[in-house]
Amino acid sequence: MANNKRTCSFCGRSDKEVRLLISGLDGFICDECAEQAHQIATLDKPDTGNHFNLEKLPKPKEIKAFLDQYVIGQDDAKKALSVAVYNHYKRLKYKDQDDDGVELEKSNIIMVGNTGTGKTLLARTIAKMLVVPFTIVDATVLTEAGYVGEDVESLLSRLLQECDYDPKVAETGIVFIDEIDKIARKSDNPSITRDVSGEGVQQGLLKLLEGSVINVPPYGGRKHPEQQFIQVDTKNILFICGGAFDGIEKRIANRLNTNVVGFDAVENSAKVDKANLLQYIAPMDLKAFGLIPEIVGRLPILTYLKPLDKKALRDILTEPKNSIIRQYVHLFKLDGVELVFTDDALDFIVDKAVEYKLGARGLRSIVESVMTEPMFEIPSTKKKILVVDKEYAQKQIEKTNLNILSNKMSE
Ligand code: ADP
Repeated sequence: MANNKRTCSFCGRSDKEVRLLISGLDGFICDECAEQAHQIATLDKPDTGNHFNLEKLPKPKEIKAFLDQYVIGQDDAKKALSVAVYNHYKRLKYKDQDDDGVELEKSNIIMVGNTGTGKTLLARTIAKMLVVPFTIVDATVLTEAGYVGEDVESLLSRLLQECDYDPKVAETGIVFIDEIDKIARKSDNPSITRDVSGEGVQQGLLKLLEGSVINVPPYGGRKHPEQQFIQVDTKNILFICGGAFDGIEKRIANRLNTNVVGFDAVENSAKVDKANLLQYIAPMDLKAFGLIPEIVGRLPILTYLKPLDKKALRDILTEPKNSIIRQYVHLFKLDGVELVFTDDALDFIVDKAVEYKLGARGLRSIVESVMTEPMFEIPSTKKKILVVDKEYAQKQIEKTNLNILSNKMSE
């Protein structure tokens, strides 16, 4: 039966009484009934089994083996992460068993390493393996409540979005906070006037890292004052932080130097691997960099990522399951063209990434600039094979302005 009056076919209210009336073939539905219907539909969602299962918690070695498929090198970080994640979820699994009064504390993680060394990739891969909600936030967009930017609560809104606004599921999730070094206090002297962008945000984050019940605006921000808050307990959310901490090596070197003064100083300093000082990073270096001690205390698992050497970059190009080269080969295959990269072309691409200090993130841009012209030309030709050797790659790169590329990457 046709509904001639413009009223909601579910609650009967007219278009004057509701904000929005959506018309269907044979009736109308108002925005509130649509919202309710959505909630009912998601409640009754069939269990696909594709979710996190504490009973099938993978062991640290299994976690690392999974990471090995996607992330090249970084063995120390992988081991630290595998153990930390295993312990975190083990703690969740046995949280109700209080046999001998030992309460396991949450261990959030902080990874220090240059940009493009795989920090985000590691966190994302772990979340993918465990099938837990995962979100990435950039610490630089976070501001204290009341300032332009996003409140720290907004990162929980994003986590909720990942799991259909189910706080129970969100509470088992992983939040990756990138560029945590950018909210460091500008000066090591805590007595100077507070700086809102740094310490204020750190205080806000601390609340989440410690574990508290937070009222989260489901759709983020303060733009919808009428919306209901969802309560999320962050006690069991695993926070993984990452940052490049530019210049921290100098502080590590200073610390190591002052520590090794003594009669065996020469012997000790000889043992220090100066090319990779990050491996000696300690919580006090983070404090010296400008993270407040309370935050450092809430990030007890501290690990580092090595700068990627040529061999690692070369492997990143070809080895991972969805490596850059495999992706291009596939793209061309879809056009019926066989794409072959010679070894010297791959070495050349790696050399360029090193030369312009672009790291792994730059590999894709370099391959992209090599491939732009052939990707434009080839589909209109009858060519069935394209061999990219060093000479070809060099010629294509010269056509593009690599200075622009390197500027772009350092933004
Ligand atoms: P970060 O978070 O340390 O700045 P990302 O994890 O975002 O770096 O890395 C950027 C990109 O570079 C990734 O998407 C990936 O393609 C590649 N990459 C970086 N490090 C590695 C690695 N160790 N193994 C495989 N790929 C990597």
